[in-house]
Amino acid sequence: MSRPLRVAVVGAGPAGLYAADFLTFDGDGSVLVDVVERLPVPFGLLRYGVAPDHLNIKAAGNTLMEVLERPDVSLYAHVAVGEDVTVQELRERYDAVVYALGASDDRSIGIPGEDLPGSVSATSFVNWYNGHPEATPHDLGDVTAVAVVGVGNVAVDVARILLKDPDELAPTDVPHPVLEALRASRVTDVHVLGRRGPQHAKWTTKELRELGELAGVGVVVDDGQLPAEPPEGSTPVAKRNLAVLRGWASREPFQTPRRLHLHFGARPVEVLGASRVEAVRLERTSPAGVGTGQTWELPVQRVLRSVGYRSAGLPGVPFDESTSTIPTEHSRVVRDGVARPGEYVVGWIKRGPVGILGTNRKDAEDAVASLQADAAELLAARPADPGGLAPLLAERGVEHVDVAGWRAVLELEEQHGVPDGRGRVKIAEWNALLAAAGVQPRP
Ligand SMILES: Cc1cc2nc3c(=O)[nH]c(=O)nc-3n(C[C@H](O)[C@H](O)[C@H](O)COP(=O)(O)OP(=O)(O)OC[C@H]3O[C@@H](n4cnc5c(N)ncnc54)[C@H](O)[C@@H]3O)c2cc1C
Repeated sequence: MSRPLRVAVVGAGPAGLYAADFLTFDGDGSVLVDVVERLPVPFGLLRYGVAPDHLNIKAAGNTLMEVLERPDVSLYAHVAVGEDVTVQELRERYDAVVYALGASDDRSIGIPGEDLPGSVSATSFVNWYNGHPEATPHDLGDVTAVAVVGVGNVAVDVARILLKDPDELAPTDVPHPVLEALRASRVTDVHVLGRRGPQHAKWTTKELRELGELAGVGVVVDDGQLPAEPPEGSTPVAKRNLAVLRGWASREPFQTPRRLHLHFGARPVEVLGASRVEAVRLERTSPAGVGTGQTWELPVQRVLRSVGYRSAGLPGVPFDESTSTIPTEHSRVVRDGVARPGEYVVGWIKRGPVGILGTNRKDAEDAVASLQADAAELLAARPADPGGLAPLLAERGVEHVDVAGWRAVLELEEQHGVPDGRGRVKIAEWNALLAAAGVQPRP
C-alpha cells in the first residue's frame, strides 16, 4: 500500500480550510493535512473581518470546525511560517504546500496628514470590534463625526457598526470592552467618501440596503452626484445600487438622532488638524474620478481609510508586489517562470482581496484539483514519508494550539457571555487565548 500524501496548508482562514476540506473529503487516510496558522486561533477573516452582526456568514465557522475535527486534519495554530518554521523546512517535510495567507494588511491613501492621530485604517477599527488579539483599542469618547474613505463592503461594515444601536450588537460575540465603548459613543454623523461616481462603488446591493434599515439612522445621499439613468456599461449590480441610492435621495427630509452621509465625486486630498484630526479636505472630481480643483472641508474627528487590503507575502515564496498576490498558473506557484507540482495557492493571496466567502470554496476546489492531478508524481518523487512538522516543532520547543485547544477557547467564550445574558463573547487578548487553549506564551 502506498503511503499517504502529506500536505501543509499555510493559513487557517476560509480558503485554507476549504482546501483541507476538499483534500480530506474521503476521510480514508490517503491525504494527511496539517494546517499551520500564525494566530492562536483559526478562521482568519471569518473571525476577524466579517462583521459580528453578519451571523449567517459567521455560521460558516460550523462547517470549517467540522473540517478541523477530521482525523486526517491537524491544526497547528500559534505557529508562524517565516518565523517559527521556514518555507524551505515545510517543503522538505511535506509532499505539497498550499499557501492560504489571505491579505490582512491595509493600503494607505498617500495624502498629507494621513498619519495624524485619529486617522487610522478601517482594518484597525475592524480588528478592534472583532476582538483581534493584535488590535489597538479605539476610544470614540470625543468623536461625533467620522469620515470613512472608500466605497466597498468594508466601508459599509464600518459605517454600520459605528451607527447601529449597540443593544442590537449585544447578542453578537463583540468583546465586552468594545460593546461598552460603542454604548458610550457620541458619534452622530458618518460620512462615506467615494472619489468617483456611485456606479463605480464596490459594495454589494445587499450590504448597501442594510444601511437604510438601521434604527434611528437617516441616510443622506449627495444627489447632485447621482446620474438620472445608469451610465452606459453599468453592471447589473451598479444598476441595482443606483436604484437603492435614488430611492434614498427621493425620500422626504427626516429628523433622526444619527445620520449616514454618502458622498460621491469627493476625493480626500488632505487630513487637517493641529495635533489630531479636525477635518478632511475634499476635492470635487468628475464621474471618472478626475480632480476639478474645487475643494471644501468636512469637519470630522476620525478618519477611517478603507481603500483595500493587501498581503505582505512570505519569505521564500515568489510575490507580485503590484497585485499583492503569489503568481500562479492553475493554482500552482510560478517560480522562475515555471509552474511546478508541489506548491499551490488559494484565496485572497491568489486572487487579491475580492469576492465573497463562497468564492474561496470554488477557488480551493480548483487548487485541490491541480494538487490531486500531481499527487502520483509527488509521491513517486519521495518514496519515504517526509514526516511533517511535529518533530521539528518538538525539537524547537514550539508549542502549538491544536483543535482541542481551539475547542477549549470556544467553550470559554461561551461562558464569558453568561453573566451578562449574552451568547458567546470573544476573548480578545493573545495570552488569554493561549491560556484558554492550555498553551504557554512564548518568551
Ligand atoms: C472587514 C471584512 C469583512 C468581510 N465581510 C464579509 C462578509 O460579510 N461576507 C463574505 O462573504 N465575505 C466577507 N469578507 C471576505 C472574507 O473574509 C474573505 O473572502 C476570506 O476571509 C478570505 O479567505 P482567505 O483564507 O484567503 O484569507 P484570510 O481569511 O485572511 O485567512 C488567511 C489566514 O492565514 C494566516 N496567515 C497569514 N500569514 C501566515 C503565516 N506566515 N503563517 C501562518 N499563517 C499565516 C492568517 O493569520 C489568516 O488566519 C470580509 C472581509 C473583510 C476584510
